[in-house]
Amino acid sequence: MHNVLFCIYCGFSSAYSCSNQQGQGAAYSADASGTEYILLAGASMSSLTMTNATKERLVTKIHDKWYDLTDYEKLHPGGPVSMGLAAGRDATVMFESHHPFTHRSVLDAILEKYELNGSSSRDLRTLEDQHAIVEHPFNWKSDFGDALKFHVKEYFQAEAKRRNVSISAAIKAPPERWCELTLLGAIWAICLISFVRGDWTSLLTFPVSLWVFGVNIFHDAAHFALHKNWRINAIVPYLFPILCSPFAWYHQHNIGHHSYPNIEHRDPDLVHFFWWKREHKSVEWRTTHKMQRAKWFLVFWWVIGVELGLATMNDYWMLIYKVYNESVPMKRISRRRFLFHVAGRFLTIGVIHLWPFFVLETWTRSIIFAILPYPTASVLFMLNTQINHLTPGCAHETNEDWYKHQVITAQDFGVNSRFCFLMSGGLNYQIVHHLFPTVNHHHLVKLQPIVARLCEKHDVAYKHVAGYAAAIKSHHAHTVSMSYNEKEQSS
Ligand SMILES: [Zn+2]
Repeated sequence: MHNVLFCIYCGFSSAYSCSNQQGQGAAYSADASGTEYILLAGASMSSLTMTNATKERLVTKIHDKWYDLTDYEKLHPGGPVSMGLAAGRDATVMFESHHPFTHRSVLDAILEKYELNGSSSRDLRTLEDQHAIVEHPFNWKSDFGDALKFHVKEYFQAEAKRRNVSISAAIKAPPERWCELTLLGAIWAICLISFVRGDWTSLLTFPVSLWVFGVNIFHDAAHFALHKNWRINAIVPYLFPILCSPFAWYHQHNIGHHSYPNIEHRDPDLVHFFWWKREHKSVEWRTTHKMQRAKWFLVFWWVIGVELGLATMNDYWMLIYKVYNESVPMKRISRRRFLFHVAGRFLTIGVIHLWPFFVLETWTRSIIFAILPYPTASVLFMLNTQINHLTPGCAHETNEDWYKHQVITAQDFGVNSRFCFLMSGGLNYQIVHHLFPTVNHHHLVKLQPIVARLCEKHDVAYKHVAGYAAAIKSHHAHTVSMSYNEKEQSS
């Protein structure tokens, strides 16, 4: 179906040629024990769930085999949040990228224990299948990947020995990182007090301190990279609802973007507000995309991007259509959780914009404090997240080797700059972060030379630019190039 037509499935016009199809009704299968697995694929809401009487089963597909990990959920060190990301979907990429240092025989032994036999899994379909989203095939046999994992593990073995902790603890935030986070948190708290009192200077200091503290702690926590205790990783993202809901973030960032960076139909970051912005050649060109040639458009988008997109509309569209940005099928949730989530979003946005009218004395001050901080935080978010993958050298790169793909679709900036590190929460070390998402950003500074050396040895292009100015320039050049359709480009 052509993308300008109203799509029956999605309910709105699609960025790509839309071939989404409904699920095909309910299917049933039973294993040897008689446990009945029921696949529900309703007419209005395609979703996969497995039930055993009243208990929902946690099933997932890894390397073309199905596993019922329900009984393993409580034993997994990442906790139910990380396990929930895999529920019902093909979790091959997350499985590989989240266990780089665990011995393969240990992983294989666990999987073998929970593997579903052929008759139990014959009729199972992933969430992706039900939404006609095609799994992107990666080749996991990689000398480059093996070398990366070996040398990075070597670094952490030394680190674990130095600190007298396990490797799984060594890859998380060390004490010095917690001191840094505490200091950033204290600065943010002081700015918050000043903000609530209505001090004019806090209009800038509050959103900046919120961003700096937030990006340095939220991003790692959402990647399960902050602490070995999964509960801490699960709670921290909820301290920063201003940026977005953690539930939407896991879909957009962990499941979609990190697994499939810059891959059409899989990376949701390629289709944010696609009728306005075109960031990838797979998105059909529209006349509105000409606007992105102007510098003001980039600034305008950065000002409104978080509040109108990430924090609200993207979230609600996912809840309605059960797919995040046409790329990531939504995890099945209970009705209660659904309502709680929607209420939480409304409450968050409401409080952010309404509190000044109840606390501050004048209307002028209340209106300014209700409006200005969000765009500032939005600009900081967009600035630090758009410049790492959407550049002329990264946007359309691809490789069947997942490890090489992660390297060539990302760009570092300001390596060795402490300012860039703190301001971006370590996102300036984007390449190492994409290779090892569960490693705390604190370690990326030391891992970067190891990875860069291995890239050189294996002839994999490692891209980095000097700092923010160069990174913004390359992102803008990419945005402008995407504003032209193929005819204009060839003329
Ligand atoms: Zn990330």
